[in-house]
Amino acid sequence: MNRSAKKITIGNHRTVTFAPEASNVFFHILTQCNLNCRHCYINSEQHGRNMLSSDVIDAWLAVFAEKCHKPNVIFLGGEPTLHPRLHRAVHKARQLGYRSVTVDTNGYLFHDFLTKVSPDVLDYISFSMDGATASVNDAIRGTGSYGECVKGIHAAVAKGFNTSLIYTVSRINLHEIELMPALLKKLGVSRFFIQVIGLRGNSASDSHQHQKHADPFERLSMAKHEWIERIPAVAQKAAESGIATTYPKVYLDQGEPFYCAGKVAQNFFIFPNGRVYRCPLCEDFPLHSYIMKTGADHHPVLTKTDRINESDLFNLDIPEGCVMNKLIQPENISYMEDGSPEYKIGCCLLKEEFGV
Ligand code: SF4
Ligand code: SF4
Repeated sequence: MNRSAKKITIGNHRTVTFAPEASNVFFHILTQCNLNCRHCYINSEQHGRNMLSSDVIDAWLAVFAEKCHKPNVIFLGGEPTLHPRLHRAVHKARQLGYRSVTVDTNGYLFHDFLTKVSPDVLDYISFSMDGATASVNDAIRGTGSYGECVKGIHAAVAKGFNTSLIYTVSRINLHEIELMPALLKKLGVSRFFIQVIGLRGNSASDSHQHQKHADPFERLSMAKHEWIERIPAVAQKAAESGIATTYPKVYLDQGEPFYCAGKVAQNFFIFPNGRVYRCPLCEDFPLHSYIMKTGADHHPVLTKTDRINESDLFNLDIPEGCVMNKLIQPENISYMEDGSPEYKIGCCLLKEEFGV
């Protein structure tokens, strides 16, 4: 997605830092979905319930193609293949000169999507799967969703598409993540993205207490040591079998500089109600930096919103690192006796990558 990001390399392991010349457009063209996953981040109150028309999609794509130099676009939903004209959006993005075009899907691939696009216009199809087995995946994503996803991957690989897979790790499926590299290899998936649902500081890691906690977020989230002990090892194993693997950095190393992508990178998260965010952690709040408005000539205009908005938060300098993390998921920070944080939390968009 972020092809011109800078990479700091140690062996085949890199921290993918922000590159100001790279732009990414995360385009939610609708919010409807056929599934109801336990960790779904779509919030219709904040993101709208409408499906954008093809004309509006084309016009908004043109706005970002003009604003950014050869951006990457990722079409998302809801489930983007529920849009009967998604294929047209893919072709339009290619025609407008987008550097790469990706579709994120839950695998159902509605409207015979694969028959309407080809690997020369669509760089990647990214499938979401949250378990190495049907029982674990379906407990999170719904009955039958594992089988449909596997079927979708087989169909895409058979047609020559590049495929990737997103696995959102939580306490429910952590025990199956080690099984993923072999499964991905078998399925012919070439890239693996590990996401995280939530993390807690080590101080809260007692599992008995954890079970008793009533907050569903807390029940799903892992402790820092679980993340650090398990995730890089899986990523390395996947890379050794030929699958490039990326996961969020989360905890900055001692002395490692902190950067907020909202200040130093070009990422735009667009929703069908016209809101445009720079930070994914702000998406549950009316803190968007921009709104799409219609100009006098009926063309869309990317318009800055009134402050206070997310950009005011990006400028705050706190010892814990990411301000939004501190505001909305403070449970993943641990403090020392003197009240200072044990570590800094990096930007959620900062990734570690094991290349092949
Ligand atoms: S497939 Fe995606 S959009 Fe649909 S319910 Fe699951 S997480 Fe939400
Ligand atoms: S996640 Fe934190 S550091 Fe990253 S853009 Fe948002 S506020 Fe900035």
